[in-house]
Amino acid sequence: AKYVYDFTEGNRNLKDLLGGKGANLAEMTNLGLPVPPGFTITTDACRHYLAEGAAPEGLEREVAGQLEALESRMGRKLGQAGDPLLVSVRSGAKFSMPGMMETVLNIGLNDESVHGLAKQAGGNDRFAWDSYRRLIQMFGKTVLGIDGDLFEEALDELKGRRQDTDLDAGELQRLVETYKGIVREQTGKEFPTDPREQMRLAVLAVFDSWNAPRAILYRRQERIPADLGTAVNIMAMVFGNYGDDSGTGVAFTRDPGSGRQGIYGDYLQNAQGEDVVAGIRNTIPLEDLEHLDKDSYDELVGIMETLENHYKDLCDIEFTVERGKLWMLQTRVGKRTAAAAFCIATQLVDQGLITLDEAVTRVTGDQLAQLMFPRFDADAPKKKIAKGMNASPGAAVGKAVFSSERAVELAGQGEDVILVRRETNPDDLAGMIAAKGILTSRGGKTSHAAVVARGMGKTCVCGAEELEVSVSRRTFTAPGGVVVSEGDVISIDGTTGQVFLGEVPVVDSAVVEYFEGASPDDDLVRAVDRVMRHADGVRRLGVRANADTPEDAARARRFGGEGIGLCRTEHMFLGERRQLVEDLVLATTDDQRQAALDALEPLQKTDFIGIFQAMDGAPVTIRLIDPPLHEFLPDIIDLSVKAATDQATSKDHELLAAVKRLHEQNPMLGLRGVRLGLVIPGLFTMQVRAIAQAAKEVPGAKPEIMIPLVAAVQELESVREEAAAILTEAGVDALIGTMIEVPRAALTAAQIAEAAEFFSFGTNDLTQMAWGFSRDDVEAAFFSRYLDLGIFGVSPFETLDREGVGRLMRIAVEEGRSARPDLHLGICGEHGGDPDSVHFCHEIGLDYVSCSPFRIPVARLEAGRAAL
Ligand code: ADP
Ligand code: MG
Ligand code: MG
Repeated sequence: AKYVYDFTEGNRNLKDLLGGKGANLAEMTNLGLPVPPGFTITTDACRHYLAEGAAPEGLEREVAGQLEALESRMGRKLGQAGDPLLVSVRSGAKFSMPGMMETVLNIGLNDESVHGLAKQAGGNDRFAWDSYRRLIQMFGKTVLGIDGDLFEEALDELKGRRQDTDLDAGELQRLVETYKGIVREQTGKEFPTDPREQMRLAVLAVFDSWNAPRAILYRRQERIPADLGTAVNIMAMVFGNYGDDSGTGVAFTRDPGSGRQGIYGDYLQNAQGEDVVAGIRNTIPLEDLEHLDKDSYDELVGIMETLENHYKDLCDIEFTVERGKLWMLQTRVGKRTAAAAFCIATQLVDQGLITLDEAVTRVTGDQLAQLMFPRFDADAPKKKIAKGMNASPGAAVGKAVFSSERAVELAGQGEDVILVRRETNPDDLAGMIAAKGILTSRGGKTSHAAVVARGMGKTCVCGAEELEVSVSRRTFTAPGGVVVSEGDVISIDGTTGQVFLGEVPVVDSAVVEYFEGASPDDDLVRAVDRVMRHADGVRRLGVRANADTPEDAARARRFGGEGIGLCRTEHMFLGERRQLVEDLVLATTDDQRQAALDALEPLQKTDFIGIFQAMDGAPVTIRLIDPPLHEFLPDIIDLSVKAATDQATSKDHELLAAVKRLHEQNPMLGLRGVRLGLVIPGLFTMQVRAIAQAAKEVPGAKPEIMIPLVAAVQELESVREEAAAILTEAGVDALIGTMIEVPRAALTAAQIAEAAEFFSFGTNDLTQMAWGFSRDDVEAAFFSRYLDLGIFGVSPFETLDREGVGRLMRIAVEEGRSARPDLHLGICGEHGGDPDSVHFCHEIGLDYVSCSPFRIPVARLEAGRAAL
């Protein structure tokens, strides 16, 4: 196998093999852009290393060969004393994981070559020693595993109140000695001076960083598979830390917040690598580079345009200027906010770069869902205490906390928290995930906090420089002496960058108002409107709602629902009606039972009338009563306690006896669904009669009757016969079908389809029963362990388990349709509104998905994307 590719050999389609960074470095190289030469070690090699604990046969030889080629091209040898070549060793996985893995710069420096580097730089000793101390610092932290704070503290001590750029060559040389001492003390060994050894160790450290705890956490959060591994890029160093004629920066080809075209980025003079995002000094806006170095600036702007036209999308880039010469160090299709995603997609259509079909594939249901989150009420009174940058939109309210640990702790207790930091770093990831929002006092739109928050769709205000954050005192101070301490509630607006004291009330977002019927009146809503219309035009899947009330049904219609896929009838038995149901269940004579049913029927009829009216001729799938018996009965413990007291009446004792008789060990597997209908005479027929009577009163009503929890066709047949008779008698037309939610039903679908005109997959129960997981118990009990172990990447209750539950569905679809070609097929489990699951439903040929009214737009969009 070939494990190493020169940048000239790769291209952007090879992300699986070369990682995103490597593939795009190759792409830029082949576009003729100024990329320092280098090569990429494949993810194959990494996977081999992670699995076997050793690099694959032949890797070392291949790397040596590529390095020689690089050396001869550069006319310098790695770490050569008089005239050294230096390289960076950079991680880069298929999916970008900003700052989660390791990179080491300036590999090849040691006590000899540092002088050679100074000579190369025309006697710039300061630069050479600065590079050397950076190497020891990065190498020490990432390769040798030394606590990075030890280096930071030594640097801070030396700097005092000065900036790093104020240190002179002599001081930096002393710092190198201090750093070497730290290495000696912490590892018991000398800092490795052999350049090839440095490189070898750095490569292995990058491989290992795939499994660093924060990388694992990030992958789980972003649902990135755990077994991809990372590639390693080795490239010739270029230096932004020569002096003021040099520098390094990051940029976007458009505003990743709003999608507006323009120059967006940060630049830092006399700096290297991570300095820009780490916020060690204040960056300047990229526009200002024009005044510092017009040639580099113009070239950069030209390259940004080239990249946009080439990738036909927003790109983000890393670049360095070395003594007036521009170098491109990275590009990728950039992360963006949900709003920007919609705006950019339609802008690119208008620019003629992509089609509307492509535009639909460029946005996701998750992004749409984010745009439906509430925003702060503009009219509510509020106390603004600061303004920062609007790094990642949304409205977040919570208690201020000042450390990642505290955020995790309080969030674990169910509190909403806002993580407040001077700046974040990759170690804050757990806290960022736990928090509702993130507020920093330093760093721009390209800072760690901003990039990670945008990636997660989490509200973030960054660079609120008026705030004085003290992590040790757990407070921040705002202008005017306002002091906010840990636990005080603040509200942050990631859309405007404003920070408020106390809780600000929220209202519907503009996108929700649009779905509710408001006409599009801003760029974002117009973009959403265009994308949604196109998605509706191309999708094959219908979208229905799970709705039990006229209000929900009406919202479902407004949001584009084409019917109700699941109208649960059990809530109609709760509240005041509970007593009637209790009477029914506990009835000991036919008369008692009939009396209870007679009392319930008119109530049910009124419920259905309301829903049929709201749905205005669209189909309504009504599921006959389903929940386990115990939900209708008084609590057995309460009853026992009461029965044990003197006040207990004979009625109480009777009740207790009845409840004991009906008590179940496993209610979810007990007397529920169709079983209840078969055991309590008249219950289902009462419901069917109520449906038929209601349908007669609402012209155009289109009821579909759905029998839950069927496992055998015989169960269905007997219910079906009675129901059909009632419908015929009433002169009402309605489909009669069943839920497929017991594995046996899926496996005997051909038989069941003989008695069912439609199937609706109840994937909550189907998942529960296929895995043998009690949904109410397992998530808290052990799912996080299962996620850690990689048994699944995401809870099967959230996203359909394609292999297991999905297989049952495929069988049912195939067998059901072969028995009854016009069998209508849908899904009404929670999964009906989950993007990945919607795609699966499309793939296996369902006719529609049904989900909660609020998820309908998401399902419409994803159904459109699935069809493209
Ligand atoms: P990350 O994936 O965390 O962004 P990178 O591998 O991109 O890590 O590298 C970290 C920083 O070092 C970036 O700012 C990058 O531009 C810079 N860098 C990487 N390689 C070189 C190089 N050969 N010369 C100069 N700077 C480099
Ligand atoms: Mg980078
Ligand atoms: Mg069910």
